[in-house]
Amino acid sequence: MAQILAPNMQCQMKLSKSLTNSMIPNSWTSILLKGSQKGSIKCSTKFKVCAALKTEHGTVNRMEQLLNLDVTPFTDKIIAEYIWIGGSGIDLRSKSRTLSRPVEDPSELPKWNYDGSSTGQAPGEDSEVILYPQAIFKDPFRGGNNILVICDAYTPAGEPIPTNKRHKAAEIFSNPKVASEVPWFGIEQEYTLLQPNVQWPLGWPVGAYPGPQGPYYCGVGADKSFGRDISDAHYKACLYAGINISGTNGEVMPGQWEFQVGPSVGIEAGDHIWCARYLLERITEQAGVVLTLDPKPIEGDWNGAGCHTNYSTKTMREDGGFEVIKKAILNLSLRHKEHISAYGEGNERRLTGKHETADIDTFSWGVANRGCSIRVGRDTEKEGKGYMEDRRPASNMDPYVVTGLLAESTLLWEPTLEAEALAAQRLSLNV
Ligand code: ADP
Ligand code: MN
Ligand code: MN
Ligand code: MN
Repeated sequence: MAQILAPNMQCQMKLSKSLTNSMIPNSWTSILLKGSQKGSIKCSTKFKVCAALKTEHGTVNRMEQLLNLDVTPFTDKIIAEYIWIGGSGIDLRSKSRTLSRPVEDPSELPKWNYDGSSTGQAPGEDSEVILYPQAIFKDPFRGGNNILVICDAYTPAGEPIPTNKRHKAAEIFSNPKVASEVPWFGIEQEYTLLQPNVQWPLGWPVGAYPGPQGPYYCGVGADKSFGRDISDAHYKACLYAGINISGTNGEVMPGQWEFQVGPSVGIEAGDHIWCARYLLERITEQAGVVLTLDPKPIEGDWNGAGCHTNYSTKTMREDGGFEVIKKAILNLSLRHKEHISAYGEGNERRLTGKHETADIDTFSWGVANRGCSIRVGRDTEKEGKGYMEDRRPASNMDPYVVTGLLAESTLLWEPTLEAEALAAQRLSLNV
């Protein structure tokens, strides 16, 4: 924790008045006095400062002791954190409840409800929205048998509410034509960390810019890597929770990071990305750093943030699969507009044709080409089978929407023969 609180973040140095000097270890005293002399810096993170301090007998450690308390010897009861997507379609909400004993499957969990008028999801006079538990993860914050529960949301009459994108995706993935093709998704979630209050990336001088992009991608060192503790804490939290996280890396823009989840089958890809996003929100909350999934958080010569979605079906992964991939690319070219409109708000600021992106209005594909809408890896070309990467989705996309649409457009949707022939010609695709 102390590492995450970078020393230059002075706003976190003002202390609660109730902390007497005797409780403050020597190493901190000087910083604290300096902080209080400045006096003008408002602190919204009093508790975080306290938690960063290692006092021998202070209230702080006692708080941590309570938070870490193992209750399993005393009760079978567990805490379930019910998580759902709020009215913007990207904000996450959660609340906790006690369950009488540990559970292993979402079917053992009760439905629950929340006040939809407070999340922009229901009118005040009929505000009840019902949560259906769909996927369970271990809770890395509470530990023990406590769980996180990914839910989707319904009206009391049992209709999915408009922001429930999981429902349609689950329908697509349970279609026998789709299920028999065992669709795999590997999602690369990019994100940007911001300093609190100033809306400016972590590690950047406030109101000014760092040196141009180049040294930061997968970079190491205090002047090249900003927020590694958050990325790493998140990595471990995901592994603990049971999320199928496959890696992380520092990104091209300083303060920007990526984690990958997958390959995951069908609806699981969406559940895991949403749970991983939830963990990231909670960890950045603890660190006093702001998370943004905006696709282009800083205008200008800075890479935006995407959510590349790698995709394959059973037949793509088998011998001759490259031909199946080409046919899928052809379908995707014909549904480019539908996909773009479902790939995230503000994506037009990111898909400019520069900074490793393809222009938003033009569909393109290529082998090993990072300036295309769809990239096919060298290995896939060489082996004649494998997967493709859809580079269009923005970091704020809904993985239920993107994975569902990819499966729908490539496995359920069929173009007319005429449209297919024209597109094949245009893209030099002989299928
Ligand atoms: P990039 O080179 O674009 O940065 P990454 O290594 O970040 O790629 O991410 C690639 C993702 O693709 C990983 O999540 C990986 O698990 C996933 N992946 C690998 N093979 C397949 C496959 N056959 N189908 C779908 N996804 C796959
Ligand atoms: Mn990547
Ligand atoms: Mn990336
Ligand atoms: Mn990628």
